[in-house]
Amino acid sequence: SQSVIKCRAAVAWEPNKPLVMEEIEVAPPGAHEIRIKVVATGLCHTDLYHLFESKKKEGFPAVLGHEGAGIVESVGPGVTKFKPGDKVIPLFISQCGECKFCRNPKTNLCEKGWSNERYDVMSDDMSSFTCKGKTILQFMGTSTFSEYTVVNEIAVAKIHDSAPLDKVCLLGCGISTGYGAAVNTAKVEPGSTCAVFGLGAVGLAAVMGCKAAGASRIIAVDINSDKFEKAKVFGATDFVNPTELSKPVSQVLAEMTNGGVDFALECVGNVGVMRSALESCTKGWGVSVLVGWTDMYDFSARPIQLITGRTWKGSLFGGFKSKDGVPKLVDEYMAQKLKLDDFITHTMPLHQINDAIELMKHGKCIRTILNVCPE
Ligand code: NAD
Ligand code: ZN
Repeated sequence: SQSVIKCRAAVAWEPNKPLVMEEIEVAPPGAHEIRIKVVATGLCHTDLYHLFESKKKEGFPAVLGHEGAGIVESVGPGVTKFKPGDKVIPLFISQCGECKFCRNPKTNLCEKGWSNERYDVMSDDMSSFTCKGKTILQFMGTSTFSEYTVVNEIAVAKIHDSAPLDKVCLLGCGISTGYGAAVNTAKVEPGSTCAVFGLGAVGLAAVMGCKAAGASRIIAVDINSDKFEKAKVFGATDFVNPTELSKPVSQVLAEMTNGGVDFALECVGNVGVMRSALESCTKGWGVSVLVGWTDMYDFSARPIQLITGRTWKGSLFGGFKSKDGVPKLVDEYMAQKLKLDDFITHTMPLHQINDAIELMKHGKCIRTILNVCPE
């Protein structure tokens, strides 16, 4: 099995263009690497960010996709904890277990992964992919829009043998991110009042996290009112569309909550919304968490917001240590303690990826599952 595999992948040749289905060559796994047959993958807004929104135009050509699940095809020299046939989720944050971050319970960062130096382009110079004689970068180190991918063992989680891969793939990014932002980063408290800005899968998972943590009131905020019905399923109690208000949303939320919410999570990736979320928090103890991804603009707020006791924090992958956290979240899903199916609004084969992108661009889906190599 240790030979080059030729397979189908959706290649992003350049920014702002549709992905192209190509035959690519996938190298055998090197030392401490694992070659994975991708079964299913979600499409996350961060893929769209890289393709359409980021001002940095490095990081192409690439295979995008970082919310996948698959089966180990083969392992490279030195890999002892994985074997062919294992069910796995590739991780965009590694957990080497040895660096100063891995050893510190306060963070889920890891010094060894691709992301240590390359937040700007979110991919790595080292790649196992070629196509038409060119090196193809592995976006976020994962590249799940390919039938096969190669990932270092420090960035792979082994999961339950009977986990349905076309559902638990969502734990590779969006759901873990939003859920963890509420329970790990914000540390939402029982009886508290929360606001979640942006009701994509990340925001809805944040709503689910607020509910799991015992929040008594969860205000769902989105400029697309079509999202409110789903937000209700995950536990939202109030619904606000900023485009329908004559006052700033932070003022409306303050009036609804006698001075502001206890916790506000930004799940959009817009610096203006980040400011609104902070300003929606109560003075004294309000906590606002940045979850949405953007690296294009500075954010700003008046210092008095923090001086009077608000806290502004950020959350990457929901604060979960990736290799430890993901298998546990899979088990919670299997024990029906965590919803995943309700996030899935569309399912299609990988070659229809551009349709999935259009759905997300126009706010017509929550998550589309792309079947890559169905089980
Ligand atoms: P999505 O596109 O499915 O959802 C975004 C939602 O925000 C949509 O419902 C949209 O209508 C809403 N929105 C847009 N502008 C708004 C505004 N001004 N006010 C209120 N709502 C508004 O995206 P997603 O996949 O759920 O991802 C959400 C964000 O989280 C993205 O920025 C993504 O890059 C980021 N993300 C961050 C991490 C992390 O680790 N921090 C991980 C995954 C995704
Ligand atoms: Zn993502």
